[in-house]
Amino acid sequence: MASQQSVIIAGGGPVGVVTALALAQKGIPVRVYEAGDQVNSAPRASTLHPATLEMLASLGLLDDVVTRGLVARTFQFWDRPSGTVVAEFDHAILKDDTPHPFVVQCEQHKVALMAIDRLKAMPHAQVHFSARVSAVEQTADGVAVTIDRDGEQEVVSGSYLVGADGGRSTVRKALDIEFEGYTFPERFLVLTTPVDFEKERGAGYRAYFSDPDEWCNLFKVAGEDGSGLWRVVMPTVPGETDEEVLSDEAVQRRLQKFFPKGSDYIVVHRNIYNVHQRVAAKFQKGRVFLAGDSAHVNNPIGGLGLNCGIHDAMDLAGRLAAVMEGKASEETLLGYEERRRPMNIEYVQQQTIANKKRLEEKSQEQREKNFEFLRQTAADPVAHRAFLLKTSLLESVRRP
Ligand SMILES: Cc1cc2nc3c(=O)[nH]c(=O)nc-3n(C[C@H](O)[C@H](O)[C@H](O)COP(=O)(O)OP(=O)(O)OC[C@H]3O[C@@H](n4cnc5c(N)ncnc54)[C@H](O)[C@@H]3O)c2cc1C
Repeated sequence: MASQQSVIIAGGGPVGVVTALALAQKGIPVRVYEAGDQVNSAPRASTLHPATLEMLASLGLLDDVVTRGLVARTFQFWDRPSGTVVAEFDHAILKDDTPHPFVVQCEQHKVALMAIDRLKAMPHAQVHFSARVSAVEQTADGVAVTIDRDGEQEVVSGSYLVGADGGRSTVRKALDIEFEGYTFPERFLVLTTPVDFEKERGAGYRAYFSDPDEWCNLFKVAGEDGSGLWRVVMPTVPGETDEEVLSDEAVQRRLQKFFPKGSDYIVVHRNIYNVHQRVAAKFQKGRVFLAGDSAHVNNPIGGLGLNCGIHDAMDLAGRLAAVMEGKASEETLLGYEERRRPMNIEYVQQQTIANKKRLEEKSQEQREKNFEFLRQTAADPVAHRAFLLKTSLLESVRRP
Protein backbone atom coordinates (compact mmCIF):
# COMPACT_ATOMS: atom_id res chain seq x y z
CA MET A 1 0.00 0.00 0.00
CA ALA A 2 1.38 3.40 -0.97
CA SER A 3 2.41 5.43 2.04
CA GLN A 4 1.21 8.71 0.46
CA GLN A 5 -2.39 7.75 1.18
CA SER A 6 -3.42 9.40 4.41
CA VAL A 7 -5.03 8.45 7.69
CA ILE A 8 -7.97 10.66 8.69
CA ILE A 9 -8.48 11.22 12.38
CA ALA A 10 -11.78 12.43 13.83
CA GLY A 11 -11.13 14.37 17.05
CA GLY A 12 -8.23 16.57 18.12
CA GLY A 13 -8.29 15.49 21.78
CA PRO A 14 -5.19 13.92 23.32
CA VAL A 15 -5.82 10.48 21.79
CA GLY A 16 -6.44 11.80 18.27
CA VAL A 17 -3.35 13.98 18.18
CA VAL A 18 -1.08 11.34 19.76
CA THR A 19 -2.30 8.84 17.12
CA ALA A 20 -1.54 11.46 14.46
CA LEU A 21 1.92 12.20 15.83
CA ALA A 22 2.86 8.51 16.12
CA LEU A 23 1.82 7.99 12.46
CA ALA A 24 3.38 11.21 11.15
CA GLN A 25 6.71 10.40 12.81
CA LYS A 26 6.74 7.23 10.69
CA GLY A 27 6.18 9.32 7.56
CA ILE A 28 2.46 8.54 7.19
CA PRO A 29 0.39 11.55 6.03
CA VAL A 30 -2.31 12.43 8.58
CA ARG A 31 -5.28 14.80 8.70
CA VAL A 32 -6.92 15.58 12.03
CA TYR A 33 -10.41 17.14 12.08
CA GLU A 34 -11.46 18.68 15.42
CA ALA A 35 -15.01 19.98 15.96
CA GLY A 36 -13.99 22.61 18.53
CA ASP A 37 -12.27 25.86 17.58
CA GLN A 38 -9.40 25.02 19.94
CA VAL A 39 -8.13 22.27 22.24
CA ASN A 40 -10.59 21.74 25.13
CA SER A 41 -8.88 22.90 28.34
CA ALA A 42 -11.56 21.78 30.85
CA PRO A 43 -10.01 20.01 33.86
CA ARG A 44 -10.07 16.32 33.03
CA ALA A 45 -7.21 13.82 32.98
CA SER A 46 -3.91 14.79 34.52
CA THR A 47 -2.33 11.53 35.70
CA LEU A 48 0.18 9.98 33.30
CA HIS A 49 1.34 6.57 34.47
CA PRO A 50 4.81 5.03 33.85
CA ALA A 51 3.61 2.85 30.94
CA THR A 52 2.29 5.98 29.21
CA LEU A 53 5.45 7.96 30.00
CA GLU A 54 7.44 5.30 28.14
CA MET A 55 5.24 5.87 25.07
CA LEU A 56 5.41 9.66 25.32
CA ALA A 57 9.21 9.34 25.61
CA SER A 58 9.26 7.37 22.34
CA LEU A 59 7.44 10.30 20.68
CA GLY A 60 9.91 12.82 22.13
CA LEU A 61 7.28 14.42 24.40
CA LEU A 62 8.50 13.27 27.82
CA ASP A 63 10.80 16.21 28.65
CA ASP A 64 8.04 18.71 27.87
CA VAL A 65 5.49 16.70 29.87
CA VAL A 66 7.79 16.67 32.90
CA THR A 67 8.62 20.37 32.53
CA ARG A 68 4.96 21.43 32.23
CA GLY A 69 3.68 18.90 34.81
CA LEU A 70 4.50 17.73 38.33
CA VAL A 71 6.34 14.53 39.18
CA ALA A 72 4.36 12.50 41.74
CA ARG A 73 6.28 9.47 42.98
CA THR A 74 3.73 8.43 45.61
CA PHE A 75 0.00 8.24 46.16
CA GLN A 76 -2.01 7.87 49.35
CA PHE A 77 -5.19 6.22 50.60
CA TRP A 78 -6.90 8.12 53.40
CA ASP A 79 -9.75 7.28 55.74
CA ARG A 80 -11.73 10.48 55.47
CA PRO A 81 -13.84 10.23 58.67
CA SER A 82 -10.76 9.76 60.88
CA GLY A 83 -8.54 12.05 58.77
CA THR A 84 -5.69 9.51 58.72
CA VAL A 85 -3.48 8.08 55.98
CA VAL A 86 -4.16 4.34 55.65
CA ALA A 87 -1.37 3.51 53.18
CA GLU A 88 1.10 5.17 50.85
CA PHE A 89 2.47 3.64 47.65
CA ASP A 90 5.79 4.63 46.10
CA HIS A 91 6.56 4.09 42.40
CA ALA A 92 10.29 4.08 43.19
CA ILE A 93 9.81 0.35 43.86
CA LEU A 94 9.41 0.00 40.04
CA LYS A 95 12.96 1.27 39.38
CA ASP A 96 13.98 -2.03 37.73
CA ASP A 97 10.73 -2.26 35.77
CA THR A 98 10.69 1.08 33.98
CA PRO A 99 13.00 4.02 33.26
CA HIS A 100 10.20 6.25 34.64
CA PRO A 101 9.29 4.99 38.15
CA PHE A 102 6.88 7.85 38.86
CA VAL A 103 3.66 9.44 37.68
CA VAL A 104 3.55 12.85 36.02
CA GLN A 105 0.56 15.05 36.74
CA CYS A 106 0.22 16.96 33.46
CA GLU A 107 -3.13 18.32 32.33
CA GLN A 108 -4.40 16.59 29.19
CA HIS A 109 -4.82 19.77 27.14
CA LYS A 110 -1.09 20.47 27.58
CA VAL A 111 -0.26 17.02 26.17
CA ALA A 112 -2.59 17.65 23.21
CA LEU A 113 -1.05 21.07 22.53
CA MET A 114 2.49 19.65 22.65
CA ALA A 115 1.58 16.99 20.07
CA ILE A 116 -0.15 19.58 17.86
CA ASP A 117 2.96 21.80 17.97
CA ARG A 118 5.04 18.88 16.66
CA LEU A 119 2.44 18.09 13.97
CA LYS A 120 2.42 21.70 12.76
CA ALA A 121 6.11 21.40 11.93
CA MET A 122 5.51 18.39 9.67
CA PRO A 123 4.55 19.01 6.03
CA HIS A 124 2.62 15.75 5.77
CA ALA A 125 0.43 16.49 8.85
CA GLN A 126 -2.64 18.74 8.98
CA VAL A 127 -4.74 19.69 12.02
CA HIS A 128 -8.06 21.41 11.26
CA PHE A 129 -10.18 23.09 13.95
CA SER A 130 -13.90 23.96 13.70
CA ALA A 131 -14.17 20.92 11.43
CA ARG A 132 -16.75 18.37 12.55
CA VAL A 133 -16.91 14.86 11.13
CA SER A 134 -20.59 14.25 10.35
CA ALA A 135 -20.73 11.15 8.14
CA VAL A 136 -18.55 8.19 7.24
CA GLU A 137 -18.52 5.89 4.23
CA GLN A 138 -16.05 3.20 3.30
CA THR A 139 -15.20 0.92 0.39
CA ALA A 140 -12.72 -1.93 0.12
CA ASP A 141 -9.98 0.61 -0.70
CA GLY A 142 -10.61 3.63 1.45
CA VAL A 143 -12.82 5.90 3.50
CA ALA A 144 -14.85 9.01 2.57
CA VAL A 145 -15.52 11.30 5.50
CA THR A 146 -17.90 14.27 5.47
CA ILE A 147 -16.57 17.35 7.26
CA ASP A 148 -18.90 20.20 8.35
CA ARG A 149 -17.07 23.52 8.43
CA ASP A 150 -18.67 26.99 8.68
CA GLY A 151 -21.97 25.63 7.39
CA GLU A 152 -20.23 24.06 4.37
CA GLN A 153 -19.77 20.35 3.77
CA GLU A 154 -16.71 18.76 2.23
CA VAL A 155 -15.94 15.08 1.64
CA VAL A 156 -12.34 14.04 2.24
CA SER A 157 -10.94 10.63 1.43
CA GLY A 158 -8.14 8.57 2.91
CA SER A 159 -6.96 5.05 3.46
CA TYR A 160 -8.23 4.67 7.02
CA LEU A 161 -10.26 6.60 9.59
CA VAL A 162 -9.57 6.69 13.32
CA GLY A 163 -12.56 7.75 15.43
CA ALA A 164 -10.93 9.53 18.38
CA ASP A 165 -13.96 11.78 18.81
CA GLY A 166 -14.69 11.11 22.48
CA GLY A 167 -17.42 9.38 24.48
CA ARG A 168 -20.28 10.61 22.28
CA SER A 169 -18.40 9.56 19.15
CA THR A 170 -20.12 10.34 15.86
CA VAL A 171 -17.88 7.75 14.19
CA ARG A 172 -18.98 5.00 16.58
CA LYS A 173 -22.63 5.90 16.00
CA ALA A 174 -22.13 6.07 12.23
CA LEU A 175 -20.76 2.53 12.34
CA ASP A 176 -23.71 1.44 14.48
CA ILE A 177 -21.47 0.00 17.16
CA GLU A 178 -23.07 -0.48 20.55
CA PHE A 179 -21.52 1.24 23.60
CA GLU A 180 -22.06 -1.52 26.16
CA GLY A 181 -22.17 -0.81 29.88
CA TYR A 182 -23.85 1.60 32.26
CA THR A 183 -23.98 5.15 33.58
CA PHE A 184 -23.78 5.90 37.32
CA PRO A 185 -26.80 7.66 38.87
CA GLU A 186 -24.53 10.18 40.62
CA ARG A 187 -22.33 12.65 38.78
CA PHE A 188 -18.80 13.75 39.71
CA LEU A 189 -18.05 17.28 40.82
CA VAL A 190 -14.58 18.72 40.18
CA LEU A 191 -13.53 21.83 42.13
CA THR A 192 -10.17 23.50 41.49
CA THR A 193 -8.53 25.64 44.17
CA PRO A 194 -5.06 27.10 44.81
CA VAL A 195 -5.31 26.14 48.52
CA ASP A 196 -2.17 24.11 49.26
CA PHE A 197 -3.42 20.82 50.74
CA GLU A 198 0.13 19.52 51.11
CA LYS A 199 1.22 22.43 53.32
CA GLU A 200 -2.05 22.69 55.23
CA ARG A 201 -3.03 19.01 55.54
CA GLY A 202 -0.07 16.83 54.58
CA ALA A 203 -1.82 15.49 51.46
CA GLY A 204 0.28 13.98 48.67
CA TYR A 205 -0.10 15.07 45.04
CA ARG A 206 -2.51 12.13 44.50
CA ALA A 207 -4.74 11.20 47.43
CA TYR A 208 -7.83 8.98 47.57
CA PHE A 209 -10.23 9.44 50.51
CA SER A 210 -12.54 6.58 51.47
CA ASP A 211 -15.78 7.73 53.10
CA PRO A 212 -19.14 5.94 53.39
CA ASP A 213 -20.89 9.33 53.12
CA GLU A 214 -18.82 11.23 50.56
CA TRP A 215 -15.60 9.83 49.11
CA CYS A 216 -13.10 12.23 47.59
CA ASN A 217 -10.05 12.38 45.33
CA LEU A 218 -7.44 15.09 45.61
CA PHE A 219 -4.84 15.90 42.95
CA LYS A 220 -2.27 18.58 42.48
CA VAL A 221 -1.61 19.89 38.97
CA ALA A 222 0.89 22.52 37.86
CA GLY A 223 -1.67 24.92 36.34
CA GLU A 224 -0.89 27.23 33.43
CA ASP A 225 1.78 29.25 35.27
CA GLY A 226 3.24 26.31 37.22
CA SER A 227 2.24 27.77 40.60
CA GLY A 228 0.07 24.76 41.45
CA LEU A 229 -3.65 24.05 41.71
CA TRP A 230 -5.52 21.33 43.59
CA ARG A 231 -8.47 19.47 42.13
CA VAL A 232 -11.04 18.05 44.53
CA VAL A 233 -13.32 15.38 43.01
CA MET A 234 -16.49 14.26 44.84
CA PRO A 235 -19.76 12.52 43.93
CA THR A 236 -23.00 14.47 43.72
CA VAL A 237 -26.23 13.14 45.18
CA PRO A 238 -28.38 11.60 42.38
CA GLY A 239 -31.09 14.09 41.39
CA GLU A 240 -29.18 17.23 42.55
CA THR A 241 -29.47 19.96 39.92
CA ASP A 242 -26.43 21.78 38.47
CA GLU A 243 -27.47 24.89 40.39
CA GLU A 244 -27.69 23.00 43.68
CA VAL A 245 -24.24 21.51 43.18
CA LEU A 246 -22.42 24.50 41.72
CA SER A 247 -23.73 27.41 43.83
CA ASP A 248 -21.10 29.26 45.90
CA GLU A 249 -22.81 28.20 49.08
CA ALA A 250 -22.90 24.48 48.13
CA VAL A 251 -19.29 24.52 46.93
CA GLN A 252 -18.02 26.19 50.13
CA ARG A 253 -20.05 23.79 52.28
CA ARG A 254 -18.55 20.76 50.52
CA LEU A 255 -14.99 22.06 50.72
CA GLN A 256 -15.28 23.20 54.35
CA LYS A 257 -16.67 19.77 55.26
CA PHE A 258 -13.73 18.18 53.46
CA PHE A 259 -11.06 20.29 55.16
CA PRO A 260 -12.40 23.02 57.44
CA LYS A 261 -10.64 26.33 56.94
CA GLY A 262 -10.96 29.69 58.73
CA SER A 263 -11.90 31.53 55.52
CA ASP A 264 -13.70 30.84 52.23
CA TYR A 265 -11.95 28.67 49.66
CA ILE A 266 -10.89 30.37 46.44
CA VAL A 267 -12.41 28.23 43.67
CA VAL A 268 -11.02 28.86 40.20
CA HIS A 269 -12.98 26.17 38.36
CA ARG A 270 -16.07 24.07 39.04
CA ASN A 271 -17.56 21.42 36.81
CA ILE A 272 -19.87 18.39 36.89
CA TYR A 273 -19.43 15.26 34.75
CA ASN A 274 -21.63 12.27 33.94
CA VAL A 275 -19.69 9.10 34.65
CA HIS A 276 -19.97 5.80 32.80
CA GLN A 277 -18.41 2.36 32.52
CA ARG A 278 -18.81 1.48 28.85
CA VAL A 279 -16.86 -0.38 26.17
CA ALA A 280 -17.67 -0.39 22.45
CA ALA A 281 -18.78 -3.81 21.20
CA LYS A 282 -16.23 -3.48 18.38
CA PHE A 283 -13.09 -1.35 18.00
CA GLN A 284 -12.89 -1.84 14.22
CA LYS A 285 -15.23 -2.02 11.27
CA GLY A 286 -13.41 -2.41 7.99
CA ARG A 287 -11.12 0.58 7.56
CA VAL A 288 -12.46 2.50 10.52
CA PHE A 289 -11.11 2.17 14.08
CA LEU A 290 -12.16 3.54 17.47
CA ALA A 291 -9.57 4.75 19.98
CA GLY A 292 -9.70 6.46 23.38
CA ASP A 293 -13.03 7.55 24.86
CA SER A 294 -14.91 6.71 21.65
CA ALA A 295 -14.01 3.06 22.37
CA HIS A 296 -14.25 3.04 26.18
CA VAL A 297 -15.16 5.29 29.10
CA ASN A 298 -14.75 4.72 32.82
CA ASN A 299 -14.83 6.57 36.11
CA PRO A 300 -11.67 8.63 36.71
CA ILE A 301 -10.68 7.02 40.05
CA GLY A 302 -7.20 5.64 39.39
CA GLY A 303 -6.58 7.98 36.44
CA LEU A 304 -6.68 5.26 33.78
CA GLY A 305 -8.97 6.42 30.94
CA LEU A 306 -6.64 8.72 29.04
CA ASN A 307 -3.67 6.43 29.69
CA CYS A 308 -5.53 3.55 28.09
CA GLY A 309 -6.50 5.83 25.19
CA ILE A 310 -2.85 6.73 24.56
CA HIS A 311 -2.00 3.01 24.65
CA ASP A 312 -4.71 2.45 21.99
CA ALA A 313 -3.20 5.27 19.93
CA MET A 314 0.30 3.80 20.00
CA ASP A 315 -0.86 0.24 19.26
CA LEU A 316 -3.08 1.34 16.38
CA ALA A 317 -0.52 3.74 14.87
CA GLY A 318 2.12 1.00 14.90
CA ARG A 319 -0.16 -1.42 13.07
CA LEU A 320 -1.44 1.13 10.53
CA ALA A 321 2.08 2.34 9.73
CA ALA A 322 3.37 -1.22 9.29
CA VAL A 323 0.53 -2.05 6.88
CA MET A 324 0.80 1.23 4.94
CA GLU A 325 4.57 0.84 4.58
CA GLY A 326 4.01 -2.66 3.20
CA LYS A 327 5.81 -4.27 6.15
CA ALA A 328 2.77 -6.18 7.42
CA SER A 329 -0.41 -7.63 5.98
CA GLU A 330 -3.85 -6.11 6.57
CA GLU A 331 -4.52 -8.94 9.02
CA THR A 332 -2.23 -7.16 11.45
CA LEU A 333 -5.01 -4.62 11.89
CA LEU A 334 -7.35 -7.26 13.31
CA GLY A 335 -4.97 -7.57 16.23
CA TYR A 336 -5.87 -4.06 17.40
CA GLU A 337 -9.31 -4.96 18.70
CA GLU A 338 -8.12 -8.41 19.79
CA ARG A 339 -5.51 -6.85 22.02
CA ARG A 340 -6.94 -3.52 23.13
CA ARG A 341 -10.56 -4.42 23.92
CA PRO A 342 -9.81 -7.15 26.53
CA MET A 343 -6.99 -4.97 27.90
CA ASN A 344 -9.48 -2.18 28.60
CA ILE A 345 -11.96 -4.53 30.25
CA GLU A 346 -9.40 -6.34 32.37
CA TYR A 347 -7.19 -3.46 33.46
CA VAL A 348 -9.26 -0.31 33.18
CA GLN A 349 -12.91 -1.24 33.67
CA GLN A 350 -12.21 -3.74 36.44
CA GLN A 351 -9.74 -1.54 38.33
CA THR A 352 -11.80 1.66 38.14
CA ILE A 353 -14.99 -0.14 39.23
CA ALA A 354 -13.08 -1.69 42.17
CA ASN A 355 -11.47 1.66 43.04
CA LYS A 356 -14.86 3.39 43.25
CA LYS A 357 -16.34 0.56 45.29
CA ARG A 358 -13.43 0.71 47.73
CA LEU A 359 -13.79 4.46 48.27
CA GLU A 360 -17.58 4.46 48.73
CA GLU A 361 -17.82 1.25 50.81
CA LYS A 362 -20.50 1.66 53.50
CA SER A 363 -19.97 -1.46 55.62
CA GLN A 364 -17.53 -0.67 58.44
CA GLU A 365 -16.39 -4.30 58.49
CA GLN A 366 -15.58 -4.25 54.77
CA ARG A 367 -13.89 -0.85 55.08
CA GLU A 368 -11.59 -2.28 57.77
CA LYS A 369 -10.82 -5.26 55.52
CA ASN A 370 -10.01 -2.90 52.62
CA PHE A 371 -7.72 -0.82 54.83
CA GLU A 372 -5.95 -3.93 56.10
CA PHE A 373 -5.40 -5.10 52.52
CA LEU A 374 -3.92 -1.73 51.58
CA ARG A 375 -1.70 -1.57 54.69
CA GLN A 376 -0.36 -5.08 54.15
CA THR A 377 0.19 -4.50 50.44
CA ALA A 378 2.12 -1.30 51.09
CA ALA A 379 4.21 -2.97 53.82
CA ASP A 380 5.30 -5.96 51.71
CA PRO A 381 7.77 -5.03 48.92
CA VAL A 382 6.70 -7.92 46.65
CA ALA A 383 2.98 -7.14 46.99
CA HIS A 384 3.68 -3.38 46.76
CA ARG A 385 5.50 -3.84 43.44
CA ALA A 386 2.81 -6.19 42.05
CA PHE A 387 0.08 -3.70 43.03
CA LEU A 388 1.84 -0.81 41.29
CA LEU A 389 2.64 -2.85 38.16
CA LYS A 390 -1.11 -3.24 37.78
CA THR A 391 -2.25 0.29 38.73
CA SER A 392 0.46 1.84 36.51
CA LEU A 393 -0.66 -0.33 33.55
CA LEU A 394 2.91 -1.63 33.13
CA GLU A 395 1.62 -5.18 33.58
CA SER A 396 -0.86 -4.68 30.72
CA VAL A 397 1.64 -3.27 28.22
CA ARG A 398 4.28 -5.91 29.08
CA ARG A 399 1.83 -8.73 28.39
CA PRO A 400 2.97 -10.61 25.26
C1 LIG B 1 -13.26 14.59 35.71
C2 LIG B 1 -12.42 13.69 34.88
C3 LIG B 1 -11.14 13.37 35.31
C4 LIG B 1 -10.38 12.48 34.57
N1 LIG B 1 -9.14 12.15 35.06
C5 LIG B 1 -8.40 11.26 34.36
C6 LIG B 1 -7.05 10.93 34.79
O1 LIG B 1 -6.54 11.44 35.81
N2 LIG B 1 -6.35 10.04 34.04
C7 LIG B 1 -6.87 9.48 32.89
O2 LIG B 1 -6.18 8.66 32.25
N3 LIG B 1 -8.11 9.81 32.44
C8 LIG B 1 -8.88 10.68 33.14
N4 LIG B 1 -10.10 11.06 32.65
C9 LIG B 1 -10.55 10.57 31.34
C10 LIG B 1 -9.95 11.41 30.21
O3 LIG B 1 -10.28 12.76 30.36
C11 LIG B 1 -10.43 10.88 28.86
O4 LIG B 1 -10.17 9.49 28.84
C12 LIG B 1 -9.70 11.59 27.71
O5 LIG B 1 -10.17 12.89 27.53
C13 LIG B 1 -9.91 10.82 26.41
O6 LIG B 1 -9.29 11.50 25.34
P1 LIG B 1 -9.89 11.39 23.88
O7 LIG B 1 -8.94 12.15 23.02
O8 LIG B 1 -10.21 9.98 23.58
O9 LIG B 1 -11.31 12.11 23.99
P2 LIG B 1 -11.63 13.63 24.24
O10 LIG B 1 -10.63 14.25 25.15
O11 LIG B 1 -13.05 13.69 24.62
O12 LIG B 1 -11.41 14.29 22.82
C14 LIG B 1 -12.31 14.06 21.76
C15 LIG B 1 -12.25 15.25 20.83
O13 LIG B 1 -13.07 14.99 19.70
C16 LIG B 1 -13.78 16.16 19.36
N5 LIG B 1 -14.98 15.73 18.65
C17 LIG B 1 -16.13 15.22 19.14
N6 LIG B 1 -16.98 14.91 18.14
C18 LIG B 1 -16.33 15.23 16.99
C19 LIG B 1 -16.68 15.13 15.61
N7 LIG B 1 -17.85 14.63 15.23
N8 LIG B 1 -15.79 15.55 14.68
C20 LIG B 1 -14.57 16.06 15.07
N9 LIG B 1 -14.21 16.19 16.35
C21 LIG B 1 -15.07 15.76 17.30
C22 LIG B 1 -14.05 16.84 20.70
O14 LIG B 1 -14.28 18.22 20.52
C23 LIG B 1 -12.79 16.53 21.46
O15 LIG B 1 -11.82 17.55 21.32
C24 LIG B 1 -10.89 11.95 33.35
C25 LIG B 1 -12.14 12.30 32.89
C26 LIG B 1 -12.91 13.15 33.63
C27 LIG B 1 -14.28 13.51 33.12
